[in-house]
Amino acid sequence: MKSPKIVLLGPPGAGKGTQGSLISGYFEIAHITTGNALRINRDLKTEYGTPRSYMDRGELVPDSIVNEIVEVEIKKVGGFVLDGYPRNKEQAEYLSTIAEIDKVIYLHVANEELIKRLSGRRVCPSCSENYHIEFRPPVRNGKCDSCGDKLIQRSDDEKDTILNRLRVFSEYTKPVLEYYNNREGFTKVEGRDNPEDVWESIRNIF
Ligand code: AMP
Repeated sequence: MKSPKIVLLGPPGAGKGTQGSLISGYFEIAHITTGNALRINRDLKTEYGTPRSYMDRGELVPDSIVNEIVEVEIKKVGGFVLDGYPRNKEQAEYLSTIAEIDKVIYLHVANEELIKRLSGRRVCPSCSENYHIEFRPPVRNGKCDSCGDKLIQRSDDEKDTILNRLRVFSEYTKPVLEYYNNREGFTKVEGRDNPEDVWESIRNIF
C-alpha cells in the first residue's frame, strides 16, 4: 500500500498518538493530530472563542475550526494518518468531501483502563513525547528522555475533565464508528495490550 490515507479512531488514552507515529513512520506519511494542532493554537481568538475554552472542559472544539485545520494539512501531503479526527458524524461527512479514506482503524480500550492511563499520563511540552508515572516513567524523574524538558500533566488529564472527555467520546464519536462500521477498510483493534503488541495487530491489517 503506497501513501495510504488512514483514519485512527479511539477514545482519549487509547494510544492513538503512539500508534499514529508508528503508522506514519512505517508508510512515511504525515501524522496529522488535531489535538496537537489545537494545543499549539489554543489561544487563537476565533468567532467561537479560543480552542482552550473548549479543551479545558474536555468539550469538542467547533467543527469549522477543526475542519479547516485538517483540510489545510491534508492538502499539503499525499498519504496521512489522521489522529483525533473525525470526532463526530459531521466531521466524518466533511472528511468524505475532501479525501478518500483507505483504512479506518478503531483502537478499542475499556473505560476503566483509560482512566488509569490518562490520570497517570505526563507529556513533554517541547516535543510532545508521552510518559506514564507507572507504566512508562522517564529515566530521570520528571524530565523528558528525548529533550530533557520538564514533564507536565495536561490540564485536560485531570479527573473531572477525563470523565467528561469519555462522555463526549460516547455521545459524539461512537456515531462515527457506526458511520464507518459497515464500510470496506474498517477494522477494530484491541488496544488494551502493550504498544508493541497493538502495533503488531495494526501491521497485520496492512
Ligand atoms: P486529544 O489530544 O486528541 O485528546 O484532543 C484534546 C482536545 O482537543 C479534545 O478534548 C478536544 O477538546 C480537542 N479536539 C481534538 N480533536 C478534535 C476534533 N476532531 N474535534 C473537536 N475537538 C477536538
